[in-house]
Amino acid sequence: ADVVNQIAAAEIIHRPANAIKELLENSLDAGSTSIKVSLKDGGLKLIQIQDNGSGIRKDDLPLLCERFATSKIRKFEDLLSLHTYGFRGEALASISFVSRMSVVTKVKGESVGWKAFYRDGKLVDGGQGGGLEDPKPSAANDGTLISAEDLFYNVPMRRKSFKSPADEYNRVLDVVTKYAVHNPKVAFTCKKAGTAQAEVSTPSDSTTRSNISLLYGNALGKELLQVGPTIHKSLGIEKVEGWVTNANWSQKRSTFLLFINHRLVDSYKMKKAAESLYTAYLPKGSFAFLYLSLEIDPARVDVNVHPTKQEIHFLDEDEVIETVVKEVALTLTNANTS
Ligand code: ADP
Ligand code: MG
Repeated sequence: ADVVNQIAAAEIIHRPANAIKELLENSLDAGSTSIKVSLKDGGLKLIQIQDNGSGIRKDDLPLLCERFATSKIRKFEDLLSLHTYGFRGEALASISFVSRMSVVTKVKGESVGWKAFYRDGKLVDGGQGGGLEDPKPSAANDGTLISAEDLFYNVPMRRKSFKSPADEYNRVLDVVTKYAVHNPKVAFTCKKAGTAQAEVSTPSDSTTRSNISLLYGNALGKELLQVGPTIHKSLGIEKVEGWVTNANWSQKRSTFLLFINHRLVDSYKMKKAAESLYTAYLPKGSFAFLYLSLEIDPARVDVNVHPTKQEIHFLDEDEVIETVVKEVALTLTNANTS
């Protein structure tokens, strides 16, 4: 049965970068203002994430990695909206099925923290003696430190499928960078364990615009134009905002960051629509930068998206995309005529 669970978990957590995405979202949900990621071998050997959020109460540790254990369903409407992210209460469970996972956590104001080890969804003895599976008292900072070692140690086929730790590290940097752009009040760092230099490092209390400059380059920062914020109630759009360029900023590729309801998502259709808009604005062969954040009534976001997919769908999709792309077009036009 564990093999089945391990394979299922490896479908949800396919690689370090998407484990990190889940862990970042948990830290953000916990109200953190500082999130530090460090990795060995691009996360294949070790993923560590320290936040300064709410912490986890000792009583909640035994069931932390139980599938579908979530603290985030409070009322019926929540159930609807929570499903928009495809799965709830499965991230930590899945990570515990495909790695050697541990948690050190302390709730602010408590005098002592707790350390707990997990395998296959359950608390285990961390080899610290005593044979007890209970969480152990531990020195800890306020917040939560989650470690996942030896990712896919028990799923050899998956383990073998990775090209290189460097490639995995770049994918992680990409995810952390995008969350840092979207959460400018939170200080993020991402580095290789045991090194001093961080590849991503943002201050707390920044702005989206200055984080884009910091992370994607000053040259881009100078070109940025603000989209919105606007509201389109009839389409359930509570907010559209973003930053885009009206110039070719890169030698390599276009960059598209899309957040819907504060989750990093993909929308193939939105991307295509934005790209075709840009071909009208930019000389052939040049590249665009778009960061867009949409808040959509959660009840309109498709509940049937498979957990492994970042691809998102929503009600009145074509109209919503048309509206958003029009906002971008308006921004570009205003800039060109002023
Ligand atoms: P979900 O986020 O869908 O609830 P997860 O498996 O990602 O499911 O997390 C399970 C639960 O563990 C969360 O609901 C939350 O209560 C708790 N949790 C996870 N990570 C953290 C964290 N960094 N800080 C505080 N609580 C956390
Ligand atoms: Mg989660």
